Amino acid sequence: MNTEVYRFKVGDFECMAVSDGALAYAPPLFPPPAAFLFANASKEQLDRSLGEHSTQPEQWTEWTSPYTCLLINAAGHLVLVDTGAGGLSPSTGRLLQNVRAAGIAPDDIDTVIITHAHPDHTGGNIDREGNLTFLKARYVMWKGEWDFWTSGEAAQKLDEHGKMLLAFAQRNLPPIRNRLDLVDHETEILPGIRAVAAPGHTPGHMAVAISSRRQQLLCLSDTVLHPVHLEQPEWYAVVDFDPKQVVATRRRLLNKAAVEKALVLAFHFPFPGLGHVVQKGTGWQWRPIQTTG
Ligand SMILES: [Zn+2]
Repeated sequence: MNTEVYRFKVGDFECMAVSDGALAYAPPLFPPPAAFLFANASKEQLDRSLGEHSTQPEQWTEWTSPYTCLLINAAGHLVLVDTGAGGLSPSTGRLLQNVRAAGIAPDDIDTVIITHAHPDHTGGNIDREGNLTFLKARYVMWKGEWDFWTSGEAAQKLDEHGKMLLAFAQRNLPPIRNRLDLVDHETEILPGIRAVAAPGHTPGHMAVAISSRRQQLLCLSDTVLHPVHLEQPEWYAVVDFDPKQVVATRRRLLNKAAVEKALVLAFHFPFPGLGHVVQKGTGWQWRPIQTTG
């Protein structure tokens, strides 16, 4: 299997999970993985929960997170969800070459949906010279997200790590300003492609629901960062802006995914990031799709 492009169908829509690469999160730049991803979990809880995944918190020194974007060919529209990290690291910025290898030119993409303004989701908006990458596309973002990062609110409310993220937003967002459609309620972006409110990870974080011929794909973006977040939906990450809201959003969207048996795409999960959510006790469990054989 090609490990950077994974093709699948949602009803009549032809979809591709496209890798932008991966980033290793480790000290000194980031806290150790368990402390980074599960900031409010006690040591006993971590030992028990991670033990079920054959992981010991103390020995887990590095979390290598894939970055997986989504491309949808939807009735004449070519839609990209998130643009990856661009040149954030030598191990990221692979989106464009993977898209081209799949026979698609950047100018073929007419709609780019940005789930939120963090650098791993907006870095591919521009090239190394700061020029726009997708010249023919209109961009879609949640209004509250755009306002937060561009109005001065982020500078007031973010801590030191958050201010690093703001510096990227100040570089990646202005070039799309003149080709931007902002949504402020759940609505269809295109036929079969719907904006879903998913606040918490960032103030205007957005999920995307795709449906065609009664098949569904729910693109969760960073509603969950690690499969353990399904089992322990109360455990938030240090990068989650509003922990209470994150937990409420998770419960709503994971329940929706489980009840509707939707296919789910999670940006930071092992490639291709696709799977199903099943209820388990008071939480859920991740069932990745089988991609071999
Ligand atoms: Zn992310």
